Amino acid sequence: MSSTIDFDFRNKLLKMHGALSLSYCYQCGTCSGGCPVAKETNGKYNPRRIIEKSLLGMKDKLIKDPVLWQCTLCDTCDEACPQNVELTEIFGVLKNLAVLEGFVPDAYKAQSMTVFDFGVAVPYSDPLVRRRKELGLEQKLDENIVIPVQELQTLMEVTGMKEIVEKFKADKAAAAPPEKPSG
Ligand code: SF4
Ligand code: SF4
Repeated sequence: MSSTIDFDFRNKLLKMHGALSLSYCYQCGTCSGGCPVAKETNGKYNPRRIIEKSLLGMKDKLIKDPVLWQCTLCDTCDEACPQNVELTEIFGVLKNLAVLEGFVPDAYKAQSMTVFDFGVAVPYSDPLVRRRKELGLEQKLDENIVIPVQELQTLMEVTGMKEIVEKFKADKAAAAPPEKPSG
């Protein structure tokens, strides 16, 4: 299958904060060799290839592919790269561009909505209380933890994240099946 090389995309990427080091890559493959996710996925996830596609400006193959989101940000590749390419910074830039164009895995959408509403990725809930009880852990956790949700929401508003989360929420509501009439 042919793919379109988008030089505008490549040049835009190179000018973005954190992505300049992309141009230092000489495709040695050291990053992929040490990447734990590449190992776990038998090479389906491949940081060298993501950098290569970025250098070639293969926008669609980058931002529409959910594989982009498999990086754990462990930084092993950054530390190993002989050219000091800031891979994780570049992957962050790519993911931000993917979000702006609406290509976000559902799990990340769900987590961003939870963080916006509760200030944490895993809210304090009845099943959590039950599990802590089973393990003999402290019960009144919610009284000991103060999460500044409003401050977080203000920060998310300033950075534009609130608008994105609201879009996720609207999409979710639109996709939900209609409620059955009662009675
Ligand atoms: S280790 Fe660095 S130079 Fe080598 S392929 Fe990966 S990003 Fe490129
Ligand atoms: S930061 Fe991501 S790409 Fe780099 S080694 Fe870790 S999982 Fe692999």
